[in-house]
Amino acid sequence: MIIILKSDATEEQIKHIQEKAEKLGLQANISRGVEKTVIGLIGPEDVLRGTPLEIFPGVEKVIPVLAPYRLVSREFKKENTVIKLSHNVTIGEKKLHVMSGPCSIETHEGLRNIAREIKKSGGTILRGGAFKPRTSPYDFQGLGEEGLKYLKDVGEEFGMPTVTEVMDPRDVELVCRYVDVLQIGARNMQNFSLLNEVGKTKTPVMLKRGISATYKEWLMCAEYILSNGNFDVMLCERGIRTFETGTRNTLDINAVPVVKQLSHLPIVVDPSHGTGRWGLVSSGARAGVAAGCDALMVEVHDNPEEAFSDGAQSLLPKNFESLMIELKAIAKAISREI
Ligand code: PEP
Ligand code: MN
Repeated sequence: MIIILKSDATEEQIKHIQEKAEKLGLQANISRGVEKTVIGLIGPEDVLRGTPLEIFPGVEKVIPVLAPYRLVSREFKKENTVIKLSHNVTIGEKKLHVMSGPCSIETHEGLRNIAREIKKSGGTILRGGAFKPRTSPYDFQGLGEEGLKYLKDVGEEFGMPTVTEVMDPRDVELVCRYVDVLQIGARNMQNFSLLNEVGKTKTPVMLKRGISATYKEWLMCAEYILSNGNFDVMLCERGIRTFETGTRNTLDINAVPVVKQLSHLPIVVDPSHGTGRWGLVSSGARAGVAAGCDALMVEVHDNPEEAFSDGAQSLLPKNFESLMIELKAIAKAISREI
């Protein structure tokens, strides 16, 4: 922690800060410049939690040296986290994975048809929502447990691990019984009870970025999960809300290299929600791979016109197939594979 003092800070004020720091077990190094005095506090910053140094008399600014998130940071763990799923799928290694499927699980047969197409094109993880976070309470809310059964069944049939959203802490145990990865949706990124609950499980979690969350807020939410003991967390950039209304969201490609620098956790890019329009999804997916993501999430539907949700941003299987071919070439160019 670095404390910059006001130009007119008195010796008494400096002594007060020094005494407080030493009482907490920190060493205070005082550097007296011509204009200003700076105090460097050496020792575990954690002891300062709950001490608002910025309101101490004579203090102008307090600069933390360490990131507020610990367990998710690169400082804590240098090597990339690798998450092992069923069917030999690992996230965070050279091979990239594409999670794909409909926004909502609709029927067993419909999910099978989509899964077959995805698998054929090289998609390796099956997605589908059974609990849907809809803006309107009158829109389709998902099939609930029935949908989870279809997802598990179809995932097993095609040899694909599965991912689905859990919205309510009371459903975490239920959802864990059916799927390989728990998705925390953008709207629930800061639902701390939910984060604590999924953190207590051993099921991998995909934490989507909140609609207007900063990187720091997002990583702090991941910290909740890791601090409960679950280290199998991947982060998912799914677009943020900006002043631009031409697309549903603004896909923040910067998130990929920034998260890679700040954290050891794998990063997923979701160009479907990131753009909101199927004609833009492939560009976003290609950009995600080129930027260095570890996985993509792409919504696919064989009849987008009739989809129960997000039809406008769902790729037809034939477009998904072409996209996968393009992605292979991009992955190869950056020494990765799909
Ligand atoms: C989804 O994956 O269908 C979804 C609702 O995602 P998000 O939380 O990113 O909007
Ligand atoms: Mn969706």
